[in-house]
Amino acid sequence: MQVKLVFVFSAIFLLAVIVAAVAKKPVAAGAEKDFRKFLGEYEAKVVPLSKEVALASFQASISGKDEDFNRSSGLQIQLNKITSDPGEFAQLKAFKLGGQIREPLLKRQLDIIYDSYLENQIPIVQMEEMIKLQTQIEQKFNTFRAQVDGKTMTDNDIEEILRTGKDSRQLESAWKASKEIGRVVAPDILQLVKLRNASARQLGFANFQQMQLKLSEQDPQELESLFDELDTLTRAGFINLKKDIDGFLAGKYGLEMEQLKPWHYQNRYFQEAPVIYPVDLDVYYKDKDLVEISRTYYAGIGLKIDDVIAGSDLFEKPGKYQHAFSSDIDRSGDARVLCSVKPDSYWMNTLLHEFGHSVYSKFNDRQLPWTLRDAAHAFTTEAIANLFGRFAGSPAWLRDMVGISVAEAERITVPSRNALRLQQMVFSRWAQVMFRFEKSMYENPDQDLNRRWWELAEKYQLLKMPEGRNEPDWAAKIHIALYPCYYHNYLLGELLASQLLHHITVRVLKTADGESQSFTGRTEVGRYLIDSVFKPGMRWPWNEMIERATGEKLTAKYYARQFVGGR
Ligand SMILES: [Zn+2]
Repeated sequence: MQVKLVFVFSAIFLLAVIVAAVAKKPVAAGAEKDFRKFLGEYEAKVVPLSKEVALASFQASISGKDEDFNRSSGLQIQLNKITSDPGEFAQLKAFKLGGQIREPLLKRQLDIIYDSYLENQIPIVQMEEMIKLQTQIEQKFNTFRAQVDGKTMTDNDIEEILRTGKDSRQLESAWKASKEIGRVVAPDILQLVKLRNASARQLGFANFQQMQLKLSEQDPQELESLFDELDTLTRAGFINLKKDIDGFLAGKYGLEMEQLKPWHYQNRYFQEAPVIYPVDLDVYYKDKDLVEISRTYYAGIGLKIDDVIAGSDLFEKPGKYQHAFSSDIDRSGDARVLCSVKPDSYWMNTLLHEFGHSVYSKFNDRQLPWTLRDAAHAFTTEAIANLFGRFAGSPAWLRDMVGISVAEAERITVPSRNALRLQQMVFSRWAQVMFRFEKSMYENPDQDLNRRWWELAEKYQLLKMPEGRNEPDWAAKIHIALYPCYYHNYLLGELLASQLLHHITVRVLKTADGESQSFTGRTEVGRYLIDSVFKPGMRWPWNEMIERATGEKLTAKYYARQFVGGR
């Protein structure tokens, strides 16, 4: 009985093995087992080194010192060497072509790791040359300080003059001085652009921009259509707003509208809206501790950031990188912010923005494999950052978090709505310039780029090029060199921020009035973001995550409704 039973089981087992073999199941299991082994070895190398790279780069950004930059770029080269290994790439290719990796999380990891190797299948010397150039450019940006009338100025100083100065001659010299960095870095950037294109072509892409988009799961054609659609949506409204801006600025500087130059727009690039409505947000922040406000706010919505603040470097220092960023050091909760806080609305926005990135990193799902423990896409983390950054100009948020009176909040409701709308329109037109310039530059780096830059600024921002100007003003914008083909993600981030705001207001807070929401003290907002946006990480392609989180794929609908009116 006993023996017989064993025999029957053995027979069934044997049959199962034969059936499975015919169905090729053991091959699949075998391939998945092999891939798991590959993953184990990959993570053993990449996980600790990525952390070292992040730490070294954060340190270099603080100090600006040669030795720190050398260490950082050395580690980055080591990391890229791993993903440039042709033998391992061949293995990945075999896994992909074999079609046997079916378990969803394994398959997703395979796709992502494959792309990260593909990008680096270029000769080591070529890669090293690019990283060295990039580091060299980065360092030039870090240490460059504009000279205005014999005085050394930081970016903050320049922006201050452009915002508050009244004398056209002074504005002109500050603006021009800020563009001097363009001349310092342009030859390096051009060399880098050509190297990037050469690598992309070796890998079978038309150029570097096309490669960047495709490798980040964005379709170049679809993206261009979306930018065309946004151009159409915003053009008429922007033409009207631009007249308001010009009328206001001409009055302010005592000029005719036709006499306005790019330095009259209160910002180096006209990427931020000039203050033309009677609301001065800076007064609310001038004696406030912006870091403490951020700490309290995020804790109130269930996203505590005390540990993030403790690890961050938040104030100006000589030699320090002057832009702001958040870094996910280890995908295990260590997220840090670098910035140069001053008590004004710009920096309140920036702090809320950067901590938005940090909470996305911090509240990830540690159960997910390391490779998938990252934002669904660069722009989905921008969306979270923008969602919170926008509150710096919201009367409801100022009332709840900064303590302005209800009457004051009511008084500024209309002008601040106008200001936010203006900000979005101005930014949206500027993002068009960046997206189209980069596309054009990678298509043909030998064209007259100085001219191309101004053609686009004239077309989309309605700015007038200063007469006879022939300078590499495009090169002064740090993103062109160091965060290539990324800028469009900021605008996509705005679209998604509006979509998320709508969803949170209607579905999570169950109210119709989005404008009076500040989320203050509403822990269900943090809960929703953790569960629906942060924890999924890269588990699904970005549009699937958005659809699961909001019930719709990415759409310009809510952005248009919020800022353009109609639809
Ligand atoms: Zn950001």
